[in-house]
Amino acid sequence: MSDCVFCKIIEGIIPSSKVYENDDIVVFKDINPVAPIHVLVVPKVHIESLEALNEQNIDIVRKIHLAILQTTKLLGINEEGYRVITNCGKNGGQTVPHLHYHIIGGTKFSEKII
Ligand code: 5GP
Ligand code: ZN
Repeated sequence: MSDCVFCKIIEGIIPSSKVYENDDIVVFKDINPVAPIHVLVVPKVHIESLEALNEQNIDIVRKIHLAILQTTKLLGINEEGYRVITNCGKNGGQTVPHLHYHIIGGTKFSEKII
């Protein structure tokens, strides 16, 4: 996807602060953090959102979750805890149409939506 900002980060066209990478996933710091730790877990394949997952591409979710576990260990938040969020579509507040999961942590969140 030539006009996708996360594809451009994956291709190295837009710089990012990477914290973890493997063959399928890249994790980099969010440019506009909302918590002391705020990173984005992004599959290298362009999938628009959670709604674009299907039987053919669902294995990426397994890889995303394994990458989350690697990342929370690397960042030292695995024991204290954290939140994982994916915004989906217009009403979900998704602004970048390339599937991604936010990991936020480094503090205790007082406010709860759910
Ligand atoms: P969404 O709103 O789609 O759930 O999340 C998109 C996230 O991507 C936002 O938190 C936003 O700050 C982040 N973001 C947008 N453009 C860039 C960028 O060029 N670099 C980085 N590192 N993060 C970005
Ligand atoms: Zn993309």
